Amino acid sequence: MAKRAPKVDHELCTGCGLCQSVCPTGVFEIKDGKAWVVKPEECIECESCVTNCPMQAIKLVSLEEAGPKP
Ligand code: SF4
Ligand code: SF4
Repeated sequence: MAKRAPKVDHELCTGCGLCQSVCPTGVFEIKDGKAWVVKPEECIECESCVTNCPMQAIKLVSLEEAGPKP
């Protein structure tokens, strides 16, 4: 079980989909032009989404704080 998972700042997110593309475990889905954290418990804390987001909209937080969830 993941200890940390992503939190997306929807004020910054453009919905580009890169986080969904680079995540090896399917944590994200793009809907209504934003990234949503649909499977936070699947995060393996690889940080690929954090380093690839062009808007620096993602940080890893505690599992409880992760989101936004759909
Ligand atoms: S990579 Fe960043 S800007 Fe692009 S959809 Fe994901 S969170 Fe949004
Ligand atoms: S840290 Fe890695 S496993 Fe976790 S959501 Fe980001 S890309 Fe996916």
